[in-house]
Amino acid sequence: MGTAKRNAVLAVVVVGLALGGGGCSNGPPEFREPPVRVVATTTLVADLVQRVGGERVIVDTLMGPGVDPHRYQPTAGDRKKLETAHLVFFNGLHLEGKMADLLAKNAGRFRAVAVTAALAPAELLPADGEGGEFDPHVWFNVSLWAKCLTTVTNALAELDAAGRPLYEANAAAYQKELEALDWEIRRELAKVPSAKRKLVTSHDAFRYFGAAYHYEVRGLQGVSTASETSTKDRIELAKYLSEHRIPAVFTETSVPDEGLRAVLDTCQRDYGHTVQLIGGSTALFSDALGPPETPAGTYCGMIRHNVQVIVTALGN
Ligand SMILES: [Zn+2]
Repeated sequence: MGTAKRNAVLAVVVVGLALGGGGCSNGPPEFREPPVRVVATTTLVADLVQRVGGERVIVDTLMGPGVDPHRYQPTAGDRKKLETAHLVFFNGLHLEGKMADLLAKNAGRFRAVAVTAALAPAELLPADGEGGEFDPHVWFNVSLWAKCLTTVTNALAELDAAGRPLYEANAAAYQKELEALDWEIRRELAKVPSAKRKLVTSHDAFRYFGAAYHYEVRGLQGVSTASETSTKDRIELAKYLSEHRIPAVFTETSVPDEGLRAVLDTCQRDYGHTVQLIGGSTALFSDALGPPETPAGTYCGMIRHNVQVIVTALGN
């Protein structure tokens, strides 16, 4: 079964599925009263669900800050958490390679919802043959991420009908906040002259960002980090950076930076072009948020951090 189809099946069928269908006694636990116990795969998904759920929901996140969801292997502990949760939220679109397989294979055991399930194919970018059919990094278009609020709200309210007014009010308030954020970053990103809007990163996580905010984006690795880069990829990227005189490339907190370092060495050696490696405390957050108590520990804070880093490095 194709990934997109599998995600859709999980989202539509598993929500509201009665306890342990088909004679299986190990279905999800029955929900009686709040708090709703939620397991989220990534920090981004957890943040979205917490904003909608507020005090009626407790969210446990499987993949913490700095963890790469493409390569993540579910543990026995994860499985236990999934089985005891009232609801499981995941990104879908094959972001969570192995984790998505586990959810799909055990559909009757968990109530699992892909937050991206209601996004129309026309709004999605292709994955170019990697992993699934579509690029999963939808959160880098703030307006598109806001559209995932409806799926989260409905899934929580189907389980906890008494909570619906709160979930809808929280979602509406957050929607407004995201609309304001979208305008704010458009203003910031427009400060970089259009000829300099070239964003080169470790992996291709920023295509939605590029399409929404008019930046040319390029990753050393593709949409998934699961594939290895070749010498050819590195040589081509070095040529691109040197020919366009691009001054900086960006590392990501959830992806090792050796590959990019090798590219920059090639730029220097073969073209005499020096490229700054933006990393450390100014690395971009791509597939995971920062630690909870830091500014990048929330979705809005993470987006602002990235935008500030990009504008500072490319805008001069
Ligand atoms: Zn990614």
